[in-house]
Amino acid sequence: MSKKILSQAAEEILDGVLDEFKQLAAIPRPTKYELQVSNFLKKLLEEHGFEVVQDKFKNIIADLPATDGKKNAPLTILQAHMDMVCVAEEGYTFEPTKDPIKLIRGEKFLEAEGTSLGADDGIGVAEIIYLAKNLDAFEHGPIRIIFTVEEEQGMAGVIGLDEKFVADADYLINCDSERFGELVAGSAGCVHINFWRELHYVRPDTKLGTNMEIKIGGLRGGHSGGKISSGRVNAIKLAVQIMRTITKYGKIRMAYLKGGQAFNVIPNSAQLVIATDLSSQDVQNICAEMERRVRKVYGAAEPDIKIETKVIKRPDKVLHAKDFDLLTNFIELIHSGVYLMSPENPAQVIASVNLGMVSMNDDIVELKVMPRANADELLEEFIEGFEQAARLCVFESKISTPTPAWTFNPDSKLLKLAEEIFAEQNNYAPKISVVHVGLETSFFVKKNPKLDVISIGTTNENIHSPNERLHLDTVAPHVKFIVGMLEKISATTA
Ligand SMILES: [Zn+2]
Repeated sequence: MSKKILSQAAEEILDGVLDEFKQLAAIPRPTKYELQVSNFLKKLLEEHGFEVVQDKFKNIIADLPATDGKKNAPLTILQAHMDMVCVAEEGYTFEPTKDPIKLIRGEKFLEAEGTSLGADDGIGVAEIIYLAKNLDAFEHGPIRIIFTVEEEQGMAGVIGLDEKFVADADYLINCDSERFGELVAGSAGCVHINFWRELHYVRPDTKLGTNMEIKIGGLRGGHSGGKISSGRVNAIKLAVQIMRTITKYGKIRMAYLKGGQAFNVIPNSAQLVIATDLSSQDVQNICAEMERRVRKVYGAAEPDIKIETKVIKRPDKVLHAKDFDLLTNFIELIHSGVYLMSPENPAQVIASVNLGMVSMNDDIVELKVMPRANADELLEEFIEGFEQAARLCVFESKISTPTPAWTFNPDSKLLKLAEEIFAEQNNYAPKISVVHVGLETSFFVKKNPKLDVISIGTTNENIHSPNERLHLDTVAPHVKFIVGMLEKISATTA
C-alpha cells in the first residue's frame, strides 16, 4: 500500500503529476488529431489493469474499482479533455501535428518553449492518471474516468459520448477550470444564428457628390463570453450609428459595410463606403464627434478608438434605399452586449448577445449573431425575438442547435461538499462562480439531468497563447482537493 496521498509531501505529488504531464506533452495533440494520445491513454490505463473503452470518437472511458467495502458509494466521474490549443510565438518553428511541446520547469511556473503549454487540459488528464496509478493511496467509491476529444473546437467528443457512460453516475468532477480556489458551478449555453438577405443596388445619384470610405478601428474587441461586460464598443453598431447621424443632416446611400471576424469575438473594426450630399468636412466632423462620444461614454474601456475618413471615387453602385433601411434597422434592432446580470451576484452576466460579424458580397449581406445565456429558457426567448426582428426586416435566418446551459443548482450536494473540503484543506473559502462561456459540463448535465457537477482546476495563466503557464504550487493542493472530495463521497451512499 502506497503512502496516503493526503499525507504526502506536496513536492512528491507534484513530481508524480509532472511525470505524467511530460508523457502527454511529448505527444502532439491538437484538436482533431487525438488518435495518438487516445491510444496512449488506453494502453496506459489497460497496463494498470483497468477495463478501457475507446469509443468511435476516440473518447476514453475507464471504470476504476472502489476501495474494499465502498462499492455502494456514489459513482463519481473524473473528467478532462485530451486535446489542446496549439499556438506558437511568431517566428518559432512548430508543426502542431508533429512536434512535441518542450517543457521548461522554473521555480514557480511550468512553461513551454515557444508554444502554448497544454496545461489546458493536459494537467487535468495527468492528475487523473496519477490518481488512477495511486488508487490504493486513498479511500474512494467507484470512479469512472472520462477523457474527451475536441473540447477546444466544437466539443464533438462530449456531444457524441454515449449516454450510458453518464446515466448511472451521481457526481462529475470536471478538471478543466483555470483557477485554483474557484469552484465553477454553472456555465452558459449559446446558439449561433446566421441572418442574410438579398441586396439590390442602384446607380448613385450624382447629387450625392461626396464619396467616402470610413474605417473604425482601435477598439478592444475580445472574447464575447469573457469580455461582454467590459464596456467594449461594437464596431458594427458604431458604423450604423455614424450613418444614422449623417441622415439627421443630409442624405446618405451606402455601397459597402463590413465588420467583425467571428461569432464569438466582439467586433473591433468596421469599414463602410458611403455617398452623401454633405461635405467631406461635415462627415469628418461627425466622425470626430463620434470618437469624442465613445471616449466620454466608455472611457478607459476604449481609449484607442480611431475613426478614419477618406474621400474616394464615386462607387459604381449603392444599396437600394429600401435595402439600406432594412439592413441598418435590423442592425439597430439587434442589441449587442449584456442583456441580463444575475440578481444574486451583480458581477455575474446571465445573458448577452454578440453581433459578431457583418459581411457583404455582391448579392447578399450576412450577419453572425451569438446569444449566450445561463438558462435554456433565455436562449429560447432570444431565438424567438430575433426571428421576429428578422421577419420585420425581411431577413432569412439559420439557427444552430443550441449548446445547453449548465444552470447553477443551489441544492448541489457536491458543491457543498467541495466548499467544505476546500476550506478545511486550504484555510480559506473558495470562490463559487458561474461562467459566461460554454463548458463540456453542459452536455454531461443534458445527458443526465440528475448528475451533480462541479468544475475545478489548477491555476493556468494565458491559456490558448504561447504565454500559457501553470502555477506549480497549485498542483499538489488540487490533487489533495480531489482526493479529499473522493474520500468524503466514499463515506456516503448513493
Ligand atoms: Zn480546456
